[in-house]
Amino acid sequence: MAIRDGRIVAAAAEEPEETVEANGALLTPALVEPHIHLDAVLTVGQPRHNLTGSLFEGIAIWGERVKDLTVADVKARAEEVLRWQVANGVLFVRSHVDVCDPQLTALRALIELRAEVKDLVTLQLVAFPQQGILSFPDGEALMRQAVTLGADVVGAIPHFELTRDYGERSVKFAMELAAEHGKPVDIHCDETDDDHSRFLEVMVAETIRLKLTGRVTASHTTAMHSYNNAYAGRLISNVRRAGLHMVTNPLDNAVLQGRFDHYPIRRGHTRVKELLAAGVNVCLGHDSVMDPWYPLGYGDPLQAAFVLAHYGQMSGYEEIRTLIDMITVNAARTLGLADYGLAPGCRADLVLFEAPTEIDAIRLVAPRRLVLKAGRVVARTEPARHTITWRGAERPVDYQVAAKG
Ligand SMILES: [Zn+2]
Repeated sequence: MAIRDGRIVAAAAEEPEETVEANGALLTPALVEPHIHLDAVLTVGQPRHNLTGSLFEGIAIWGERVKDLTVADVKARAEEVLRWQVANGVLFVRSHVDVCDPQLTALRALIELRAEVKDLVTLQLVAFPQQGILSFPDGEALMRQAVTLGADVVGAIPHFELTRDYGERSVKFAMELAAEHGKPVDIHCDETDDDHSRFLEVMVAETIRLKLTGRVTASHTTAMHSYNNAYAGRLISNVRRAGLHMVTNPLDNAVLQGRFDHYPIRRGHTRVKELLAAGVNVCLGHDSVMDPWYPLGYGDPLQAAFVLAHYGQMSGYEEIRTLIDMITVNAARTLGLADYGLAPGCRADLVLFEAPTEIDAIRLVAPRRLVLKAGRVVARTEPARHTITWRGAERPVDYQVAAKG
């Protein structure tokens, strides 16, 4: 591969300024994080730990922590996690930001950060009404204010509104607001085990009515796990018809769904395989990093992909490869990124893995040896070296030996 002026070109110069020997390692475009909550990252344990690990205890704890938010606090935590993400090869991030705050503190903080990091990371901010639009005082006004202030994307959370009617109206409000301002939509939709939560169909209908095809994303949609198959089948074909992008978040949803079940406990996950088979663009998000809902993680999409391989039963040969698409090209389509990919003309935003194939990258959650932004190295990782004493002699251990054969 040849790079000139920050872009991939068809042929290398006769005497390139610099060459990198890849040794057959996997090269992908920069990773894309389509769903994270940067305003809440690194707050785990503040002011107390979530002892049950449940969504509702998480919401209660966040309700206490949110009172202490300042611009400096949000920026410091978000910037730390952005650095982790760059080290993991992520150069494009869509972050939801809670706008149920009359001061819009988190949004103001992340708008500042978005400008400060723009040469390295493209940050899209979603106006996300954590406590609802119609169910929160002045919710509609706050959403409008957030868009005016500079949110890139309009969000909603219909399943959390007080009534079904509010939920439906919140979707229509958000999508009309987006249409009015020429913004994309990304809605936390049906993130519940309740099979009566059916707001995705409203998103489908509004996308068609407002002609927003290609600009609308539904995140989570975990209730789809529990729909009857006839309803789910019809819904999936309509999702395809409306051209919605879908984001699945296996880390958070693996620990948060199914909490009201006795055995057998549902996985509570959207129907990834069926959506992909229907031709729907599905991508994979990390969601939380060390917050009241999910205490683990370091912002690595590969870790989320590793979990989805198990949790979504995507262990078939092609399915494991698809997981890499879900954190690169599919997520790039969701974010509407231009000039993204490995073809000549694309920006040279690249990741070189310490692994020869997609399958090894997932298997090993392999280190990102090099991360390039516009052709320049912006992150390096030295792989760990392992040695053991084996039958009396010191020997190296190489987890990639099978792939080398
Ligand atoms: Zn989320």
